[in-house]
Amino acid sequence: MCVFCEIIKGNIPSKKVYEDNDVVAILDISQATKGHTLVIPKKHYANILEIEYPEYEAVMIAAKKVAEKINVVYKPEGFNILNNCGEAAGQTVNHFHVHVLPRYKDDDLNIQFTDHSKDFNLNEIASDLE
Ligand code: AMP
Ligand code: ZN
Repeated sequence: MCVFCEIIKGNIPSKKVYEDNDVVAILDISQATKGHTLVIPKKHYANILEIEYPEYEAVMIAAKKVAEKINVVYKPEGFNILNNCGEAAGQTVNHFHVHVLPRYKDDDLNIQFTDHSKDFNLNEIASDLE
């Protein structure tokens, strides 16, 4: 059972804030910040590696529309647009989705990168990935 497929079928209630042919956007049941929204393709794909490009594009376009709407209504100071892929990255629902997280001063949400550049050779990585 996939919770997002059940939401899309209408079998589990949700607060829908956007819908088009390919995508729905619902309020995250656990609001990390005010307006925290999940943008979800109607077709089930496990993650960003599985989703087909046309639907991925539809999700990202919808994410921008949702962010623009939140921006007008709540006037946040910024946004994080976020996807977790895989358990190690914190993915808990295995149906691809993008988090739209409006950011407010003092919102207590901590998304932080640690600098490990001293541990890695940038030339080597660039050459591996080119
Ligand atoms: P992730 O950890 O990136 O897989 O995000 C999954 C998100 O789905 C979490 O932020 C949950 O709070 C959210 N979530 C889980 N179940 C529901 C639900 N029934 N309605 C709305 N959001 C949900
Ligand atoms: Zn699903």
